[in-house]
Amino acid sequence: MRIKAIQAPLATAAALFLLLLLGGCQQGDSLDQVRAEGELRVVTRNSPTTYYQDRNGPTGFEYALASLLARDLGVELRIEPEFSLDAIFRKLRRSEAHLAAAGLTLTAQRMNEFPHSQPYYQFSPQVIYVAGTARPRELADLTDKDIVVLAGSSHAESLYALQQGGLDNLAWREVEEPDSTGLLEMVATRQAHFALTDSNEFEVQQGLYPRLRVAFDLGDEQQLVWFLPPDGDNHRLIQRINALFSRLEDSGEMKKLRELHFGHATGVSRMGSHTFSRNVNSKLPRFRELIRQVASEYQMDWELLAAISYQESHWNPLATSPTGVRGMMMLTLPTARELGVENRLDPGQSLRGGARYLKNIKRRLPSDITDPDLTWFAMAAYNVGMGHLEDARVITQRQGGDPDLWADVKKRLPLLQQSKYYQNTRYGYARGSEPVTYVQNIRHYYNVLQWEGISQNKPRPPVNTDDYLPTAIRSSRLSAL
Ligand code: GLU
Repeated sequence: MRIKAIQAPLATAAALFLLLLLGGCQQGDSLDQVRAEGELRVVTRNSPTTYYQDRNGPTGFEYALASLLARDLGVELRIEPEFSLDAIFRKLRRSEAHLAAAGLTLTAQRMNEFPHSQPYYQFSPQVIYVAGTARPRELADLTDKDIVVLAGSSHAESLYALQQGGLDNLAWREVEEPDSTGLLEMVATRQAHFALTDSNEFEVQQGLYPRLRVAFDLGDEQQLVWFLPPDGDNHRLIQRINALFSRLEDSGEMKKLRELHFGHATGVSRMGSHTFSRNVNSKLPRFRELIRQVASEYQMDWELLAAISYQESHWNPLATSPTGVRGMMMLTLPTARELGVENRLDPGQSLRGGARYLKNIKRRLPSDITDPDLTWFAMAAYNVGMGHLEDARVITQRQGGDPDLWADVKKRLPLLQQSKYYQNTRYGYARGSEPVTYVQNIRHYYNVLQWEGISQNKPRPPVNTDDYLPTAIRSSRLSAL
């Protein structure tokens, strides 16, 4: 009896404890919440080093990592792009995202406020100046100069620390933008002396500003981490993130991702005409008949299809890009499926898929655009995606250009790489200079191939073929497309 009497309150206490525990679990830690919601909400920056849309959909280094975490947790990924560092941290403070993956540096101040993952990328903060002006070589050279940094950035924090440490006459401006393009633009156009930026951001953007140079690395190497909200229990979620990062490091996958997103893989071939001519003789004969056949099925010039497939894969039916785009026309798996292509490595299927895809794009473009421009627009959309092309057309119109003219739109496409412009577009950042190079290359190959065809029936004029690209022939043949 006594024993029972004791057991009863014990059982009640145990039940109560269990209830409390269960009640607590319903709230759960952040890992439980992610699972219960079925989605991982990630706040990021819409920028070339973090997250943006390309012709295959969303991409970027942070996007790739966040997708891997979502897959690991068996949930959907929801990306919430912001356009400034301050906005990202505001969202985190309000627990409106499960984590921030946005090329964020681990700093003393942030470390105090936010829990964070282990580092996944090392880089140097750099001082950028424009060639032809005095190159600063040390900290003292930064005093009494106009320096620009991103608002709320690690660089602003470093400058503040330097100032507190006694480096007087240090002045800087904080610019509210999602990435460093605005800062680089200010230095390039002499609206500021120097910019401070992360080395990976500078590398990716350098092509846009050929006159900008690295003056020196500001301090030691720094690290990028993911930050989590200050409230709630994030312990287990951080463990999962760290385990994923470690696995990716060990397997070499992380290295590949860094190379893919920060390396200089532009995806656009800039092969010289020399190599092209060599390939025309060595590789093209094997595919010439097939290309002719497919081109006639789709009522297009075979030289154009040959030029596109050369630009895409150098006439290599087994070509594979690190992003998993494959075959003669470099189709993604979803696009191939949509087009009914079963085997992307089959040259005939790939060429047919690509030709059909181009035809579809041409049909979707506004009817005011006519050939030959229609063809260039379609190829640009093939490269960068319809949405971004539309954004460039809107910018063209806003600037008083003609959105139906390729010559006008091609000048604006590269603006999609500058935050000043892409912030106000529907589809955000794009590697806008790529479709321009892409179309230029194809037009060049196309012209050379046409000339080859013509010259087979006529005596060759005593000039360099590169200089001899008759415009009249070019446009008359195109209007038949
Ligand atoms: N990594 C920097 C930060 O976390 C942002 C990028 C930059 O300012 O270049 O503040």
